[in-house]
Amino acid sequence: AVAPLRGRVAVVTGASSGIGEAAAARLASLGARVVVLARRAERLDELVSRIGKDGGSALAITADVTDRAAVRAAADRVEAELGGADLLFNNAGVMLPAPFEESAAGQWQQQIDLNVTALTHVTGAFVPQLVRAAGERGVADLITTSSIAAQNIFPTFAVYSATKAYVTHFSRHLRAELGPKGVRVAAVEPGIVGTELQSHVTDEGAREWLAGSKEAMEWLAPEDVAETVGFLASLPPRVNLQQVTVMPTGQT
Ligand code: NDP
Repeated sequence: AVAPLRGRVAVVTGASSGIGEAAAARLASLGARVVVLARRAERLDELVSRIGKDGGSALAITADVTDRAAVRAAADRVEAELGGADLLFNNAGVMLPAPFEESAAGQWQQQIDLNVTALTHVTGAFVPQLVRAAGERGVADLITTSSIAAQNIFPTFAVYSATKAYVTHFSRHLRAELGPKGVRVAAVEPGIVGTELQSHVTDEGAREWLAGSKEAMEWLAPEDVAETVGFLASLPPRVNLQQVTVMPTGQT
């Protein structure tokens, strides 16, 4: 089909840049009405108008996902204005590698608050809508952005990698719980993707490691991961890819 996601309502967190932004555009191009969520309102407005110009439909909700009341209000708004979501791309995340002994406790907490706690609360806020949609429309998707860091060992990435191991394992468990209700759950584990993610890194050693990696290989583009997200959501409802690892060809 030209528009396999027509009739579907997709919520994308972390949609103001990188993977989330590209995935929102991709899901809209496949026919879904897309709700784009992040803190930077101007970036979301820009994306909404770009999607509109390309013939798609999008709604921006400005929210900090670490704020539980804001997450709850966002879910209520999706329910009221669009009749509920049948796809959640739970993607907002932050990566702050640094030697464990030297890194600021604030950076450990920031990664845990967003990648673990907020991701869990966003899931909690939207799962009732997904379950209902699966019952009524025969399909719903919960897709999370984990990372290859959930599987491989990268020195100085201990806290980040542990948050992503949580995302992968949480997704696998939820799949077993929600699959029988018709909700597919998939964890996408990208290798390195060129986005704003790297720009937040403060540790000099980690910055050098990233710069060397960028020299040594061609990183993935956000669109490469977005393509995977669109693919997962377009599969026949009986098919659930539980975990998808998307690597740059040159990354070991
Ligand atoms: P970006 O930094 O480009 O995007 C992160 C997004 O999350 C932004 O839209 C940001 O928007 C949003 N965000 C951050 N904090 C909050 C918050 N408190 N509330 C709401 N939104 C928030 O990075 P990526 O696109 O690379 O990252 C997306 C996901 O992909 C992350 O989970 C990351 O861990 C994962 N990943 C990335 C890889 C890479 O190499 N780039 C590799 C593997 C996984 P705003 O600031 O406007 O709120």
